[in-house]
Amino acid sequence: MPRLDDTGFRPLDAQELTGRARTHLLQLESPRCLLHAAVAGPFLALHAAAAHDGIDLRPASSFRDFDRQCLIWNEKFRGDRPLLDRSGQVILAASLPVAERIEAILAWSALPGASRHHWGTDLDVYDAAALPADERPRLVPEEYREGGPFARLDAWLTSHAARFGFFRPYAAERGGVAPEPWHISHARVAEDCLARLDAAVLREALSSVELEGAGEIDRRIDDWHARFVRAVDAAPAAALMASLSPVSARELGDDGRMV
Ligand SMILES: [Zn+2]
Repeated sequence: MPRLDDTGFRPLDAQELTGRARTHLLQLESPRCLLHAAVAGPFLALHAAAAHDGIDLRPASSFRDFDRQCLIWNEKFRGDRPLLDRSGQVILAASLPVAERIEAILAWSALPGASRHHWGTDLDVYDAAALPADERPRLVPEEYREGGPFARLDAWLTSHAARFGFFRPYAAERGGVAPEPWHISHARVAEDCLARLDAAVLREALSSVELEGAGEIDRRIDDWHARFVRAVDAAPAAALMASLSPVSARELGDDGRMV
């Protein structure tokens, strides 16, 4: 098992890259999440700095495996789970031809094997201090805009995430994945994963499952890999620099601040 304070990291293999293995992961208890072993320390440091500024930074989602992504995919395709258009409005899956239905799924959900959540480097985060105790975040853009409960978190991440090696790969509208202000990524480790996840790795992972729309996926996979995997915001230099020397949990002071 990799150690929390490892400063280097071993490149992920094809099974890990596509969420079919858990050998790269470490379970954190507080806040509870499953992350790449080299990302756990930096995330705890980010979490502690946010807490110092009154933000209870919680993961709504961290690692997600291949089977779970398959389930989400098939449910959205069949209309068993809400399908949203790019503006966040619910649309009827059955009313769309297969290619358009898949485009709609891809705006908000990755192809199984192509989710950055498989890497353990990416998390969806919200501020639990800004919500009533019994409320869950919806993870919609309005929550992170001015006037929304997570507007403060959004501004805080813009100012501080890079210092801890994190950035937001879905900040801009690029015609691929819709902008997701809640989705953060550890620059150094994720950039390495992104470089390794080519269309051939993805094609091999998908060859082993029964997926709705498989024929269409097979025909268009190179195009979709380019638009929904590769076309993301590049990690800023500051985040890459900060994440060259991952922070270990031991470097955190008693009050949770960096020492
Ligand atoms: Zn996400």
